[in-house]
Amino acid sequence: MTKPDSKTELLSTIVASYAARPDVDSDDIVALVAKLSRELKIEEGAPTDAPIAPVSGTMTPAIPLSRAVTEDKVFCLCCGKGFKMLKRHLGAEHGMTEAEYRAAFGLPEEMPLVAPSYSRRKANYARKVGFGRYSRETVRRDGEIVR
Ligand SMILES: [Zn+2]
Repeated sequence: MTKPDSKTELLSTIVASYAARPDVDSDDIVALVAKLSRELKIEEGAPTDAPIAPVSGTMTPAIPLSRAVTEDKVFCLCCGKGFKMLKRHLGAEHGMTEAEYRAAFGLPEEMPLVAPSYSRRKANYARKVGFGRYSRETVRRDGEIVR
């Protein structure tokens, strides 16, 4: 039996013994190599090594879903790069919206596309610069009392 990873080795062995024959010229060797390569599928590679073809509009993630979100980064499943938020990257690099991205990889709605730590920092920042206070002041200027 021939293991897939030894095909090239097998081919060179056959060709070497063939070439050692006195009645063989270079054209015969070239023809033999071509024939063997074809039959051993060396040029095409082993069928099991071929990338998995996308199934009806879905894409194969570049990294495992289980590693797509960390505390500080969310990783793009198209290219495997990590970002604080994916939205801009998806549009700029892949021409996708978040919805298209979710659909392409079959992501659940609860899967964050913004790093958890970044969401929290933004919320903290908003509180710190007083977005909450600003909105209350706006309400008061309009003459409507909140509480
Ligand atoms: Zn990407």
